[in-house]
Amino acid sequence: MIAYLERLVPETDAEPTPPDGGKGDRPALPDSLGIHGTSLDSCPAIAARDFGGMASARPLALVCPYGSDDVARTVRAAASSAHLTVAARGNGHSINGQAMAHMGLVIDMRCLDPGLFKVIPGGPPDGDLPSVVVSGGALWEEVLVRCLEHGLAPQSYTDYLRLTVGGTLSNAGVSGQAFRHGPQTSNVAEMEVVTGTGEVLVCSEKENSELFFGTLGGLGQFGIITKARILLQPAPDMVRWIRLVYTRFAQFARDAERLIDLPDGGGGSFDYVEGFVFVHGDDPVNGWPTVPFVPDQEFDLTRLPHTAGPVLYCLELALHYRTGDRPCVVDSVVKRLLGGLSYVEGLEFHTDVGYSEFLMRVSHAEQQARASGTWDGPHPWLNLFVSKKSIGDFDRTVFNGILRKGIGGPMLVYPLLRSRWDGRTSVVLPDSDEIFYIVALLRFNQPYPLGPPVEALIAQNHEIIDVCEKNGLDYKLYLPHYESEDEWRRHFGSRGWARFIDRKRRFDPMAILAPGQKIFSRSP
Ligand code: FAD
Repeated sequence: MIAYLERLVPETDAEPTPPDGGKGDRPALPDSLGIHGTSLDSCPAIAARDFGGMASARPLALVCPYGSDDVARTVRAAASSAHLTVAARGNGHSINGQAMAHMGLVIDMRCLDPGLFKVIPGGPPDGDLPSVVVSGGALWEEVLVRCLEHGLAPQSYTDYLRLTVGGTLSNAGVSGQAFRHGPQTSNVAEMEVVTGTGEVLVCSEKENSELFFGTLGGLGQFGIITKARILLQPAPDMVRWIRLVYTRFAQFARDAERLIDLPDGGGGSFDYVEGFVFVHGDDPVNGWPTVPFVPDQEFDLTRLPHTAGPVLYCLELALHYRTGDRPCVVDSVVKRLLGGLSYVEGLEFHTDVGYSEFLMRVSHAEQQARASGTWDGPHPWLNLFVSKKSIGDFDRTVFNGILRKGIGGPMLVYPLLRSRWDGRTSVVLPDSDEIFYIVALLRFNQPYPLGPPVEALIAQNHEIIDVCEKNGLDYKLYLPHYESEDEWRRHFGSRGWARFIDRKRRFDPMAILAPGQKIFSRSP
């Protein structure tokens, strides 16, 4: 039985009804499909919007499933029609309409199995890690909070946790832990997936492995993740959170790469390594005020050499510890790990926070952005993976050139290790080098006319991509968005594309799933 079509949207994400009042000139959902739907004019506007705030596609209906069977029934109903598509909507935090389905069915994954939470202890005989089975529609924040009740926590995160398990596993899921544990797609033991033919299949490395690896990073193209078993670790209590300022990219990159190459755990390395670029100036959004953790930590400008350029760099690190650990022990581990790094002396900052407070750090920024109006405005974000051999050129041309005045939000850049990613998944990485960087340009501007017109920001994104192309940089888009098959083909490369379309033929031959990615067209 499918429950549906009430406004089952978390209050925090409630969005205004569009100017047409949600009514449009749309046909009703045919009874013959056998699913309970809504006529279009009562379809909640939420399904036609996303965090990007730039795309809009009104679906035929928003389906609210209780369980996997409801998801399967919806997909089969679409398959039995001549033209319907199905988009799983996680928390709608895509940028370019990826979770939308124009005149199709949108499944609100947040409705699915909200109570599902089953911890599986690890240990002997196989020495397995503990794990937890959760709904594909669970938010990572919910997973974390419940795991902490058991003294456990996931190993790999995104910076922001109000994203769904299925939504991030369909992309990769990257944060400062990924250098050690790999992306979230490397931390899943098993999934239950509803394919484009409406089959409900359990998959893992050993069972239905092609579906398992295809679905991870698969942009929703091969199946809808209804359950996932996520690998866990014992949760620490506290985090020493550190920021170090650099004036030269080469030194920042050398130190960051050195830190991600240290032996894992046991105080031998940090537990989290990220970095960001900021403007050499006092702008409260783009400049040095973004570096100190609290206002009473002074950013002593006299420490900066006169040779510093238009942008500066900040290495952000974290070390886990337990409340029972002696402070001098934590201090000495940190001192040892920071030894030999080339940051600007006197421009290092640290604070000690609880583990969950650290992981939910972006929720604080969310509150501020909601208050200032930049959460609800358009977000023309650009995310890229850039190989080690190209990141210096990227810094010179993009950070020190096109973006020298900032973007009105964080500009993240930090290294990752290819060997922690599984090449069997559908995730696309740059062609060369063990080390590659994630670059995330997270624009939080006031809506026009208080802020710049969104078209200008989109044009700037295009300019960045053009520069990458012209200079022959080795890069790939993360959370990609393309309009034509040719562009997708180039994105995947010839071998990757052949594998991707082969998987599509096997698991979603009628191209019913995730039409908002604009990769394939629904076949009759
Ligand atoms: P949606 O936007 O709802 O869906 C994304 C795609 O996945 C769609 O194609 C959809 O159809 C498909 N999909 C959704 N659920 C399922 C499912 N259960 N099964 C199959 N397909 C599904 N990413 C990072 O890697 N690291 C970060 O630190 C990070 N921080 C972010 C911070 C913010 C504020 C925002 C807005 C985004 C951030 N992202 C980050 C990007 C984020 O991981 C992706 O946008 C992700 O897709 C959002 O998850 P969602 O649940 O909202 O998915």
